[in-house]
Amino acid sequence: NSPRILVSACLLGQPVRYDGSAKPLGHTLLQLWQQKGWVVPLCPEMAGGLPTPRPPAEITHALSGRDVLAGTATVQDITGADMTAPFIAGAHAALALAQQQGCQFALLIDGSPSCGSQMIYDGSFNGQKHTGEGVTAALLRQHGLDVFAHTEIEQLAKRLPHPAT
Ligand code: SF4
Repeated sequence: NSPRILVSACLLGQPVRYDGSAKPLGHTLLQLWQQKGWVVPLCPEMAGGLPTPRPPAEITHALSGRDVLAGTATVQDITGADMTAPFIAGAHAALALAQQQGCQFALLIDGSPSCGSQMIYDGSFNGQKHTGEGVTAALLRQHGLDVFAHTEIEQLAKRLPHPAT
């Protein structure tokens, strides 16, 4: 059985970030995994129905994705609009795809209110980060996926067969 890895679409060069940009990781390992068919790309925010570009959003009050899932925190965009529902919908779309595709792993871009898995912004829109995870990363972890930040690709590689074998 091949490993399957859910990967943030923006890391694969898709221009789906809030500002219409991509953030391609350009790592040889990721390219090899793609060639092997191990990679399942998804942008949770677009899957949750949000357009690109869209206003930047953050989880409020320095809380975390699991608080959003528990109903004790919200996601707001920079205009103050409540974006909680599409962020939760996007997390569930990511989980459904991961389960359908048999993904045991996820490689997600850190810092995002959806995909962040180590650090996220604190809701002040002042560039302040804190330890925490986005809504999608939290839901995937709650359902047993091993979630890695893009900065942890080498650690993820240690959990996978060598792509040349
Ligand atoms: Fe990238 Fe995730 Fe943000 Fe989509 S939600 S743009 S995949 S970081």
